[in-house]
Amino acid sequence: MRKVSIFGATGSIGQNTIDLIARDPEAYDVVALSGGRNIARLAADARRLRADVAVTADEARLEELRAALAGTGIEAAAGAAAIDEAAARPADWVMSAIVGAAGLKPGLRALEQGATLALANKESLVTAGALVMDTAARHGARILPVDSEHSAVFQALVGEDMDAVERIVITASGGAFRDWSLEQMAGATPEQAATHPNWDMGQRITIDSASMFNKALEVIETKEFFGCPHEMIEVLVHPESLVHALVGFNDGALMAHVGPPDMRHAIGYALHWPARRALPVERLDLAQIGQLTFRAPDPARYPALRLAHEVLAAGGLAGAVFNAAKERALDGFLERRIGFLQMAEVVEEVLTRLTGSQCLKNAEITLDTVQETDHLARKTAEAAMADINR
Ligand code: NAD
Ligand code: MG
Repeated sequence: MRKVSIFGATGSIGQNTIDLIARDPEAYDVVALSGGRNIARLAADARRLRADVAVTADEARLEELRAALAGTGIEAAAGAAAIDEAAARPADWVMSAIVGAAGLKPGLRALEQGATLALANKESLVTAGALVMDTAARHGARILPVDSEHSAVFQALVGEDMDAVERIVITASGGAFRDWSLEQMAGATPEQAATHPNWDMGQRITIDSASMFNKALEVIETKEFFGCPHEMIEVLVHPESLVHALVGFNDGALMAHVGPPDMRHAIGYALHWPARRALPVERLDLAQIGQLTFRAPDPARYPALRLAHEVLAAGGLAGAVFNAAKERALDGFLERRIGFLQMAEVVEEVLTRLTGSQCLKNAEITLDTVQETDHLARKTAEAAMADINR
């Protein structure tokens, strides 16, 4: 039996992971599950999967979790430190599916104990790419990408030599506002932004899809994971969300990964890698689909993509600044303190204010420098939002 843990188990990726694991209960021994405020969901899954420990991120809900697990023998724990402790428990395969920078530390703990890390939490690579990749290398641990685009690139590269790769193209659906004008986007509400045309995902990543901050994070994730120059990475708008990525080789070939927009494919690929196993996803009928369309992203409507390349050109801790500023700007949009397009303005302003600051010049990427930078960037984003509303 393989020992597995799932962090962010109550979210969209976490639930899709549980769906796959629960289909084959004999194959998996579940060590830890973590969640946030949805205690009923967390406790029900911990019972169903017979986990050793269930952890809520919310310390105030520990008693509620204990009560929900009473009589099962399943340990209940709460708080960020308890999540880190659970991630350090030996496991063969660990799903990192917490949303945001909070996913970094548990992922590092899992790598330190040599687990294979199925990485959905793209923020880990954006904020601390070098640290994450080095930690894996030092402990002989493997990271498998669970973002659909990165799983697609990873699959297109099987048996290939990275030296023969000329470009990596990741696709974007264009999100909720792909056919909206700039004027319409300026007045968009959180409810409108949180509706995705093709994918069923968590609220934050869905809004990031509408602004293409999600794709911006993915450009950075591509560079950090595959170690290619950022100039090699392209984004293509593909409204059907069936081609997830393409890898271009030096002989002119483009290897495309085509599949239904269902995260259980990328999760299942990481779960069974290096084997392929049957997965409960739709089989595409291309004759019925008829056509696939592509277009270049509009730089005026999606400034986040330009910012991603600026962040990669700056290097060092710029990714940690970018991610934290984006997370705070997204909170501001959700709280209706700033408009949809102002999220990119805030992020750009934070990058400008912190360029040349000690934190960005600091070449060393450690958990401490990343967390300090994250904190400073959030504070700077707060100040930038206050200035916008002045
Ligand atoms: P979600 O919002 O549905 O779930 C997030 C999970 O993280 C929940 O279990 C929640 O309780 C937990 N969580 C939230 N804040 C936390 C904190 N501070 N500490 C500990 N736990 C916390 O998110 P999701 O859509 O499942 O996305 C999870 C990650 O996977 C994100 O990094 C996202 O970018 C990435 N991802 C998601 C998809 C998708 O289809 N949903 C696709 C690719 C990548
Ligand atoms: Mg993706």
